[in-house]
Amino acid sequence: MLEVRNVSTGYGAIKVLHDVSIHVDKGETVVILGPNGAGKSTLIRTISRLMPCNPGQIMFNGKDITGLSTEELVQLGIAQVPEGRRLFRTLTVYENLFLGLYANYDHTTAKRKEELINFAFDLLPILKERRNQMAGTLSGGEQQQLAIGRALMAEPQLVLMDEPFLGLAPLVINTICDVVNQLRAQGKTILMVEQNARASLKLAQRAYLLELGRIVAEKKSEELKDDEYVRAVYLGK
Ligand code: ATP
Repeated sequence: MLEVRNVSTGYGAIKVLHDVSIHVDKGETVVILGPNGAGKSTLIRTISRLMPCNPGQIMFNGKDITGLSTEELVQLGIAQVPEGRRLFRTLTVYENLFLGLYANYDHTTAKRKEELINFAFDLLPILKERRNQMAGTLSGGEQQQLAIGRALMAEPQLVLMDEPFLGLAPLVINTICDVVNQLRAQGKTILMVEQNARASLKLAQRAYLLELGRIVAEKKSEELKDDEYVRAVYLGK
């Protein structure tokens, strides 16, 4: 479904990603694991066309999307749950969800918009309870659920998640894992970047290691959990 081919990018003279190639198949949950500063957010931002790649090519469902805008990507079926959630803190839960309709707003009927919001409320019932509460007053876990709900408004085939577990307590991480599993059961494909190996290797079928901007390993999660280096560096065993 998604193919990132030999992508390099950076910020001005600072090179961050070096010849990165990854793929995600339809229906998979894939994690890219890496420490602070490895380039995880840069990779997600490059895939969602918030950053240029030079050189490199990004394919989605067989189509070259390298030259498209972020808005066009959302319309094609790729939505992002950004690092730090990036919610509109002084707007309500309902209003934040509604803004997730933005890219497809003109092509979506009022009935469909309501259906999509109700779909998010069914999947994430806490959002229904909090629908009139300002996003900035939600707990971290609730905010993460709202960020996921907002991404779902675009009816994505592929959901990109940038460190969804960041700053969350273990019990709240379990809630987010349940949500991701439900998304997968509903046929969504998920690519997440994370440093929390324990949680993300449980969720994902396949994983890449990104270190200093390079992919240094790709394995099934089950295999990676038993890898001596991963156990020592990422799992603290
Ligand atoms: P973290 O887990 O801390 O979010 P990350 O793996 O997501 O890290 P990135 O945020 O992609 O890493 O950053 C990769 C490198 O690029 C870092 O060295 C960072 O300092 C640098 N970098 C990130 N954003 C910018 C920017 N806007 N301008 C210059 N350098 C940047």
